[in-house]
Amino acid sequence: MSLAGRRAIVTGSNSGIGLGIARELAKAGAEIVINSFTDAEEDHKLAADMAADTGATVRYIQADMSKPEDCRALVAQAGGCDILINNAGIQHVARIEDFPGDKWDAIIAINLSSAFHTTAAALGGMYDRGWGRVINIASAHGLTASPYKSAYVAAKHGVVGLTKTTALEAAGKGVTCNAICPGYVLTPIVEKQIPDQMKTHNMDRETVIREVMLSRQPSGDFATVEQMGGTAVFLCSSAADQITGTTISVDGGWTAL
Ligand code: NAD
Repeated sequence: MSLAGRRAIVTGSNSGIGLGIARELAKAGAEIVINSFTDAEEDHKLAADMAADTGATVRYIQADMSKPEDCRALVAQAGGCDILINNAGIQHVARIEDFPGDKWDAIIAINLSSAFHTTAAALGGMYDRGWGRVINIASAHGLTASPYKSAYVAAKHGVVGLTKTTALEAAGKGVTCNAICPGYVLTPIVEKQIPDQMKTHNMDRETVIREVMLSRQPSGDFATVEQMGGTAVFLCSSAADQITGTTISVDGGWTAL
């Protein structure tokens, strides 16, 4: 399947799942826009390396997904897009009574509101061209909850709601919108939770991974960034033309429990 001639923007793609999805879309022939807020030398190098590895055109555009004007500017600066992957996300783990208000605001802004602003900026061009894919990276936490992740769970449930509404508004215009709901994928966002979980549960690293994290994932394995990328490529194929407004779990069985 070739995505030649399609331009994809992947928000928050200098690491983890976003980077994995960008790479799989590039391998399928799409033109790629990589994004982060850091604008570091490594970000530009990532884009150059991906272009060299895959033969795709790959650009880096800096934009802070916590800022509505940056979200819209990202789409404008890219020249619009045919494929929009709303992936940028952060996490904070604390009891509701202790949850800092500024962390709540940042998680809602980056994990949920950014997807609204980029989608609002991208849809018009997709409608004009009669083809588009909006793929929101939600989470198993968009369908279920865990304690101490109030902002994240609220944001991801919001992303699933936004996905359904976008799909209904876009229906019949050649544009689909779906959410991928990963279970645990061993990326920096998960790595950062391991030391806290070790302290909270008084466990070593391996026990936290096995008994706290993967206990929710019946397969007993992490999902991979390549699997997220492959799922995104499938959603961009013609086989997925009538798949819209839904969630696709890639979670080793978590949400079947
Ligand atoms: P990660 O920490 O590796 O990646 C997060 C990305 O978001 C990075 O590229 C980072 O630069 C970017 N980002 C953070 N704040 C930003 C901002 N203000 N502006 C622009 N970019 C910003 O983590 P990941 O696991 O790859 O997470 C990617 C997405 O997948 C997130 O939405 C996350 O909630 C979701 N997810 C991850 C898992 C998992 O187990 N790793 C599970 C379910 C869902």
